[in-house]
Amino acid sequence: MTNQRSTRSACLFVGAFDNELITEMEQPTNNVRNVFDAIGTIATCTASDLVEAVVVHESCIEENPTANIDALRRVDPTAIIVVASTNTRYTSADANVSVATDSTKLSSAIATAKADPSSLSISTEIDLDEVLGIADETMLEKDASALGDVDLVRALMHAPASFKETLLDLLTQQTSWSSCTIVDEHTSVEAGAVSASMRYGHEEHGILTANGATSSEVTRWARWAACWLDLARRQQNLKLLAYRDELSGAWNRRFLHTCLARELKFAREERRHLTVMIFDIDDFKHYNDRWGHDAGDEIIRELVKLLRIIIRKGDHVCRIGGDEFAVLFCDPEPPREPGSNHPTTIEILAKRFREQVRQAHFPKLGVESTGVLSISGGLATFPWDGMDVDSILLKADQRLLQSKRQGKNSITIGTDD
Ligand code: GH3
Ligand code: MG
Repeated sequence: MTNQRSTRSACLFVGAFDNELITEMEQPTNNVRNVFDAIGTIATCTASDLVEAVVVHESCIEENPTANIDALRRVDPTAIIVVASTNTRYTSADANVSVATDSTKLSSAIATAKADPSSLSISTEIDLDEVLGIADETMLEKDASALGDVDLVRALMHAPASFKETLLDLLTQQTSWSSCTIVDEHTSVEAGAVSASMRYGHEEHGILTANGATSSEVTRWARWAACWLDLARRQQNLKLLAYRDELSGAWNRRFLHTCLARELKFAREERRHLTVMIFDIDDFKHYNDRWGHDAGDEIIRELVKLLRIIIRKGDHVCRIGGDEFAVLFCDPEPPREPGSNHPTTIEILAKRFREQVRQAHFPKLGVESTGVLSISGGLATFPWDGMDVDSILLKADQRLLQSKRQGKNSITIGTDD
């Protein structure tokens, strides 16, 4: 049998876009009026003409952007979702462009999102810092130093999400400006304000604009601010490198251990349970051998995307080995299904995920890819299955092995003892 690979080439525009932009795109395009039409188009496209990217005009998702983006993802988790907006950033999209974008910029945004799963901006700075416990140390009192450098270093280490704010506060204190702010290239600068680009090497950090300032002052302070913003960005990148899996964009094993230890502490204090699922792809070597390593990599990325759609806001997806993953179900929200208790809801989520993997379509595996992939997993819940990180992970792993021994394609929940 030949290895028939699909070509993901079409670009679907949703909403009122400039005709010139659509016709200038290199790949085949289609333009529909709203998200409903887009869902219909994606659901009915053929395997040889899959939608590579969905470019959504901000006006079509104004009411509920996250739900609309999620709805598009549900129909095809592999399509890149780009939102074109005037200046809002849609963090659940794979890429953001300006409504005034041209075909070169748009193609490059799609290519970047495709090549770099880490640009799937799902893990935000706030999420990582909260989970690692950094944000707990935010009892930052103003430092006595006139220059404020100590404030900046402390904000960088303990409250990176509000670093820009601290920087702007300091600028206001150090100058006689009536106000200052940081804007991006798409924002028009207020009449009377003076602005300067904050560039450090090749890195752009936005535009500093100030009222009541001279041009040379703003240029000088913009250089100073750019150094600090570059340091903050590098610090954030290092954290992501340490805790994230590069291939899939999921968290890594180090993150799982750190996060589970912290969540266990909360679960103990709040007397609630905490569940971990570990799962492993069945016969993954076979897919690598038959369709190549690239296809294997794509499966890993797609599984993570699928999982992210299914889990709840406070839960975490980690890739802890080659084809082994862990999901930390630590969302403290009450169960969404009336009358159900917490673990039962998680069991339903886990089973639903296994079922969705069975129904998923993996373009790199060819046209007959739906229904070929399965996973085996095990669930372990604090306090019943273990009181600490190691014993809970061990129990989940044992149950995963039990699922494998019993013929794979199943999730063992807790009936082994
Ligand atoms: P089982 O059902 O028992 O899990 O069988 P399996 O074939 O999935 O075996 P196992 O889980 O032991 O093997 C995992 C394979 O995953 C081995 C390795 O070739 C492959 N692998 C590990 N890391 C990567 C990766 O980053 N990309 C790809 N494409 N393959 C990987
Ligand atoms: Mg495996």
